[in-house]
Order: sequence, then C-alpha cells, then structure tokens
Amino acid sequence: MKKIFPSPKLPFAYRHKPVSGNTINGLGETTLRRATQIFHGSGARQLEWARLEIFFALINPFKVYWLNLVNRWLLRNADGPIAAVQQPVVDARQKSQEIKALALELGAGVVGITHLSEQALYKGTNPQYARAIVVLLPMDNEEMAYVTTNRAGAETMRAYMEITRTVIALSQRIRSMGWRARAYCEGADLLHIPLAIEAGLGQLGKHGSLICKEYGSGMRIATVLTDMPLAEDKPVDIAVDDLCVGCRRCTIDCPVDAIGDRKQTVRGVEKWYVDFDKCAPYFAHTVGCGICIEVCPWTKPGRGPGLLEKLLSKRPG
Ligand code: SF4
Ligand code: SF4
Repeated sequence: MKKIFPSPKLPFAYRHKPVSGNTINGLGETTLRRATQIFHGSGARQLEWARLEIFFALINPFKVYWLNLVNRWLLRNADGPIAAVQQPVVDARQKSQEIKALALELGAGVVGITHLSEQALYKGTNPQYARAIVVLLPMDNEEMAYVTTNRAGAETMRAYMEITRTVIALSQRIRSMGWRARAYCEGADLLHIPLAIEAGLGQLGKHGSLICKEYGSGMRIATVLTDMPLAEDKPVDIAVDDLCVGCRRCTIDCPVDAIGDRKQTVRGVEKWYVDFDKCAPYFAHTVGCGICIEVCPWTKPGRGPGLLEKLLSKRPG
C-alpha cells in the first residue's frame, strides 16, 4: 500500500472490528439479493460500520458539520401532508414532461424517471411507491479540485443542501397535486445509483460512481419516490465501459488501491466494484475523499458530449 497520512488504519482502532464491508456487500456472491446497508444511513437503523460514521462526523471541519446538520434539518420535510383532492393524470407522458420541467425550475441539473426496482432497496426497508424521479445536480468543479481538503468537503455538502432543497420542493409540489411523494437525499436509506442508471441518466464507472455525460461524476444524486403515474425513461449507453476497460486513471490515483481493473460478481451481478474496506476508512479520514471522481476524464467540465461522440465513433461497424 502507498504511504499515506493520516493512516487509514486509525478508524479501525475499534475494540471489535466490524464485519468486512465486502462480505456485507455480497462480493463474490452469485445469487441476486438486496443490498445490506453498512454506512452513511439516515440514522433510522444501526449499521455495521456506524462507528466509522461517528468518527467521520467528529473529524469533519465545523463548516461541513454545520452544512450536514442543516441538510438533515431540511430533510424533516421529506414527507408531509397530501392535498385532499387528487389532480387526475390523463397523459403520463405529458405529465412526465411537466414534472421534469418543474424539477429543472426548482434547481435540478438533469432529471430522469424510472420504476422503483428491488436493486434500489436495502434489506429491511420497504418504501411503498411505484416510481422514482431521479435528480442530478453538479458540484462546483473549481472547488472540487481541492479534494481531500475541507474546501472540497464543504462544496460536497453545499451541493447536497441544494439538491435536498430541490427534491423536497418537488415532493411538496407533487403532494399538493394529491399524490404521495417523498424526498430522499444524502444519508437516505435508498440506493440512488441503480435508479439513476435505470432512469437513463448515466452508467456505472470503474470507480463505483455514476458517470453522466453532463457532469461526469462531479455531481450529487437525489430522488423523489411517488405514486404519480409518469412515463418512464430507459437506460442509456454513453460508452462508459468503452473507456473504463482501458483507462486506469482512477485505479492508479486511488491512494489505497481500492479500485480494481476487472468487474466482479456482487450479489449475482457482474459490475465494477470498489473495495469497501480499503476505501471507507480513507474516505472518512479525508472529508469524503473523491480523488477517483476528480481525476476521471468524464468529470472535466464540458468534456462528456465530445468524449461520448469519440468513443462511439471507435466502435466497430
Ligand atoms: S478514471 Fe477512467 S477507469 Fe476510472 S471511472 Fe473514469 S474513465 Fe473509468
Ligand atoms: S473515494 Fe478515494 S479512497 Fe475511495 S475509491 Fe475513490 S480515490 Fe479511492
């Protein structure tokens, strides 16, 4: 392992070590099953790596801590009263366009809609909604260039706060139309990335994060779950694998060698996988790390569309 300071071993100064995150995640398992939440939850349930979460909170600089508190405070309005009179949805396609326009007006960068799938749900949770409106919001790239410092950590939390405001306002507007809707953001008991992929917003990169053509991985994701009848988007092919199979940028730059060169089988699905036990302690030590996101070529502002065109042009026939 490369020499780093502070040592990522510090958060493991537990009297009892947590169960390996890779084991909990189902690395090597060939059967489909729901994910088990380990870390970074809403606080509703005790998680195996909760002590690392506490460590993370305690070492955060005051500004990040404060923004996080504000964010959690905003999330008290994630759900709320529903209008007694329900506005009927005659044309789901038309309504999807209206809801997407509304999300953009409320601050979203990109929006997609999909059904609420099993792969987005953690074991032991059961939100009873039909579909998901997934929202992306970019982070400030100049601030994120300071990754592993407090400055980038503060920008991450600022973006979370913005996107929280957007999805809360969107959920409130849907409830005012008489339909159930609940906002999910940072620390939510929901897997946003599978929903974003299904909603056609991007694909999974080798670094384990979503890549979209608009912002690369330099964004935050949040979701509104609802029962409103809406037309759903389809997954897109933006040639992420075309680049990831040959590119090693994130693999080389990850300070703890957490990013592998090959896809692995995780709970019955072959996909890119980041070694949780290596990444999480370093992540907690460094106000959210994010090196792999920053160095990814897709994240360079304005580069995505050109990169996509170039990658597609290289495909045979
Ligand atoms: S840095 Fe390269 S390998 Fe890593 S996610 Fe980005 S394109 Fe893929
Ligand atoms: S967040 Fe940091 S430690 Fe984790 S995989 Fe990315 S570069 Fe490695």
